[in-house]
Amino acid sequence: MLDLFKLKFIALSLLLSSNAIGGNENILRLFEHPDKTRIVLETTTKKSYESFSLKTPDRYVVNVKGLRIEELKTTVKLSRNPVDPILKAIRLAQHKKNVIRIVFDLKKPTKTKSFILEPYKNKNHRLVIDIYHPPEKDNLTDKKNRQNEAKSKTPSKKRKPLIAIDAGHGGEDPGAIGTRGTQEKKITLAIAKKLYSLISKEAEIEGFLVRQGDYYISLRKRYQIAEKRKADLLISIHADAFMKSRAQGSSVYILSQGGASSAQARWLANKENQADLIGGVNLKEYEDKGAELKYTLTDMAVTAKKMLSNRCAEDILEKISGINKLHKKNVEKAGFMVLKSPTLPSVLIETAFLTNPAEEKKLRQNKYQWKMARAILEGIKQYLSDPSNRLY
Ligand SMILES: [Zn+2]
Repeated sequence: MLDLFKLKFIALSLLLSSNAIGGNENILRLFEHPDKTRIVLETTTKKSYESFSLKTPDRYVVNVKGLRIEELKTTVKLSRNPVDPILKAIRLAQHKKNVIRIVFDLKKPTKTKSFILEPYKNKNHRLVIDIYHPPEKDNLTDKKNRQNEAKSKTPSKKRKPLIAIDAGHGGEDPGAIGTRGTQEKKITLAIAKKLYSLISKEAEIEGFLVRQGDYYISLRKRYQIAEKRKADLLISIHADAFMKSRAQGSSVYILSQGGASSAQARWLANKENQADLIGGVNLKEYEDKGAELKYTLTDMAVTAKKMLSNRCAEDILEKISGINKLHKKNVEKAGFMVLKSPTLPSVLIETAFLTNPAEEKKLRQNKYQWKMARAILEGIKQYLSDPSNRLY
């Protein structure tokens, strides 16, 4: 059996940059999630596979039928990676004439999952393999200690407003792609990280990143993470795309349960809501689990969410108008899935158009990303400065 290091001789000329997106080739990719390592095998035709675990040493084995090693490209450079929390190595071999065997050498026995995704847009047939990281016991103890501390030291009234910062897209879903090849997922994460660092310097606000790296989180999970952390506000950061490259400027959106405020807003929300299909969400599992949370809601909480989302969006729009043209002068409304928390005030910002070459150039600049992050922060601060906007 070959390990990936040896495979390099076969695949060297085939090795692609990590920016490559599949389509008409067989390609293996790896994404590091906070709780698992995800390997995606995209193939031009539908493949069947079998998977099983082996002990001493611990391994997870996937046999993919109808594929030869010469036909497989990979962006996975993981032969012996001490950094990965669970994988020791990945090995590939031609198991039988037409069967590729992928062996995952594990550091510990662990939970694994694999499932098939049907082709969607520019994604072909995909086999998704999730290898879960072992739970960190120390972290759990830490968490408990922190909770106890929080209980004894800070009375709940003095809690600082907590901002959930959501960088749109990630992992299998690059989002919009600019004319120079800029991927939306990278721009959104860069701005989100800058906003997080600015918020960290503020005495009166706290923040956290919903997505911390290059991996995909389903749209529903994003607001559920924010709800679980008891965030007071969800800010989802994006960079628009449109069919016409002339389209330009920033826009700020809130949820509309009914109709959208314009045809373009509706078009955009539909486009953004397709992210789960591109990003590789196991929708079947979602249905099985009954992923919809059971909320006990008062009308007041729901009405407050709508009102506060709108006020916050207006404040952010006002501050962004100081640094960029506005695409729309008013807060826009559409059915964005990521904004659908029934109680958490939520705002989606399309920072600028990646499909507009001049704006794409700006979005790539560190300086402009800081400017945008600062404008968003100023908007949040203005919103929070009104005591009637604080729910607690
Ligand atoms: Zn987007």
